[in-house]
Amino acid sequence: MKKILQIENLKTYFRTPDGIVKAVDGISFHLNEAEVLALVGESGCGKSVTVMTILGLIKCPPAIVQGSIRYGEIDLLKLSNEEYRKIRGKKISMIFQEPMSSFDPLYTVGKQMMEVAMAHLNCNPDQARQLCIDMLKKVQIPLAEKRFDEYPHEMSGGMLQRIMIAMALLTNPDVLIADEPTTALDVTIQAQVLNLFRDLQSTYRTSVIFITHDLGVVAELANRVHVMYAGKIVERATVEQIFKSPKHPYTKGLLRSRVRREYKGKLLPYVPGYVPSATNFPKGCRFHPRCEYAKNVCIEQEPPEFFIDGTGVSCWLYARSDEK
Ligand code: SF4
Ligand code: MG
Repeated sequence: MKKILQIENLKTYFRTPDGIVKAVDGISFHLNEAEVLALVGESGCGKSVTVMTILGLIKCPPAIVQGSIRYGEIDLLKLSNEEYRKIRGKKISMIFQEPMSSFDPLYTVGKQMMEVAMAHLNCNPDQARQLCIDMLKKVQIPLAEKRFDEYPHEMSGGMLQRIMIAMALLTNPDVLIADEPTTALDVTIQAQVLNLFRDLQSTYRTSVIFITHDLGVVAELANRVHVMYAGKIVERATVEQIFKSPKHPYTKGLLRSRVRREYKGKLLPYVPGYVPSATNFPKGCRFHPRCEYAKNVCIEQEPPEFFIDGTGVSCWLYARSDEK
């Protein structure tokens, strides 16, 4: 399978008055052609900072970014802002979480779409307009010609999110990054947007990094899953493996905390405790203060990644006895 992106030992640190925030702390992964890779984990695990770094949206300095992000022959981290701008929005696009705040309220959605088309595609205004209207039809916006000339406040959240998907796909990018794109929507609208997203992804064969904390969404959309905790990837597996045989205690906790009908009227299970502060991670395994299986080695030494049945898991429970 062709690898579209290859991320090696990526670190994104921020200097703050309280110390260095290690938001992303040495992660490596790749994205295959035409796959949906889900990055999951609680808020503050480093998912959004990971994709902001891939998109070149982290300003350095003041931030510190190290490692490499290979896109074909190019290391994105070595590009100037100018060079990055040619790739971002054209080859690598993004769908943000908040459709309402992602559009400029002063301009019609059509004008904002046309800007993207004109910036990245070699077309005149008439061609751009037609392309955008065709794309609005593809994301099932009714009366697309009329809607094209409307302002963001005239649209519902679900409609704006579909328009944002249309905008992100205008240039037929190689990589689409979606950061919790349905979190701000009502549940019924969420399902519509996800179905549309899945259809378009398979039609365009776009490679997608999908960030979510919603494991229901993961089950629907993803091919592979990477679970992040405290700036690290703690488990990587196929979607089937994650649901059938989760390995890391944190992954198991996330799966247990899904809201299910059988918990009606009962206390919902959850992962106790909080994601630790990124300025002061616990020594050893960063999950140990919350882990019911923690042993001495977990408190002392950070676990390396062990591979079991194709799953990568950073947890001492999976070490062979001579590795501990
Ligand atoms: Fe728990 Fe130890 Fe595994 Fe960390 S390494 S998840 S503390 S068992
Ligand atoms: Mg986030």
